[in-house]
Amino acid sequence: MPFESLSERFQLAFKKLRGKGKLSEEDVNEALKEMRRALLEADVNFNVTKDFIKKIKEKAVGEEVFSTLNAAQTVIKIVRDELADLLGGTQSRITISSRPPTIIMLVGLQGAGKTTTAAKLAKMLKSQGKNPLLVAGDVYRPAAISQLQVLGEQLDIPVYTEEGSKDPVQISQNSIPFALSHLKDIIIVDTAGRLHVNETLMDELVRIKATVHPHEIMLVVDAMTGQDAVTAASAFDQALGIDGIIMTKLDGDARGGAALSIKAVTGKPIKFIGVSEKLDGLEEFHPDRYASRILD
Ligand code: GDP
Repeated sequence: MPFESLSERFQLAFKKLRGKGKLSEEDVNEALKEMRRALLEADVNFNVTKDFIKKIKEKAVGEEVFSTLNAAQTVIKIVRDELADLLGGTQSRITISSRPPTIIMLVGLQGAGKTTTAAKLAKMLKSQGKNPLLVAGDVYRPAAISQLQVLGEQLDIPVYTEEGSKDPVQISQNSIPFALSHLKDIIIVDTAGRLHVNETLMDELVRIKATVHPHEIMLVVDAMTGQDAVTAASAFDQALGIDGIIMTKLDGDARGGAALSIKAVTGKPIKFIGVSEKLDGLEEFHPDRYASRILD
C-alpha cells in the first residue's frame, strides 16, 4: 500500500488538532512539524517539503484559522488541497489527435516497466473503443521484442516489428503507414532503455521524436527508485521534452516520495500509475482522489 506511513502520520496529526477545540498558532505549528517529518521520512524532496509546509502555514494564517470554532477542519482542508496540488492538481489526460493515428512514445530507463506499461496502456485504450498498434522499438534487447509480442497476443493487439532491423527510427516511421492501412488509430512506441541516462539513449529518442512527431511522450519511471525517479525525469525532460509521467510499481512503494515530488520538481504531471504486474494494473491518475486516499 503506497503512502502507508505518511497516511498514518498525517491522520495522527489531524487527530491531535481535532481534539483541541480552538487552535493556537502553536498547535498548528506542532502539527506542521509532524507533517514535515513525515514527508521527509517518506522520501519527499527537501525543497518540495519546505514549500509545502510554508504554503499551508501561509494559508492558515491568511484564513485566520486560529481561535475560530472549526479551525481543525479548516487546516485539514488546506492540507488536502495542497496535497492534491502537489500530486498535480487536476487530472492530466493524454493528447488524442483529431487526425489519427495518435502517436504515443514511451521512454524510460531499463526495468522501469516500459514494455509492460505499453501493453497495459494499449489494453486500456482498446477497452475505451480505440484501435491501438504496439511498436517494438526496443531493438537492442531481443527479449523486449518477444515480450511485447507475447503481451500483444494475450491482448489480441497487433505488434509492429521489423525482423533483423536495428533501426528504431525507421521502425517507428514505418509503423505509421502500417497503422493507417490497418485502421489503427493509436500507435504506442516502446523504445529502448538503458541502465542510466546517457547521450546515446537520448540521441536515439530525440531522432525518433524528430521523425515521427509524437503527440505524447510519456516517461515511465519506477516509484520504488524514489528520488532517482525524479532525477531521471528531470534529465529526460531537459534532453527530450516529455508531456507526462507514468509512475509504475506504486503498489510496491510504501513511501510515495517520488509521486509527491515529481510534479513540483519537473513541472510534468503523472498521467497514469502502475499498481500491479498484471495487464489491468494501470490506472488514470486523479490527484484529488489520491490526496483523499492518503488523508482519509
Ligand atoms: P522495461 O525494461 O522498462 O521494459 O521493464 P519491463 O516492462 O520489462 O518491467 C520490469 C518489471 O517490472 C517486470 O517484472 C514487470 O512485471 C514489473 N512491473 C512493471 N510495472 C509494474 C507495476 O506497476 N507494479 C509491479 N508490481 N510491477 C511492475
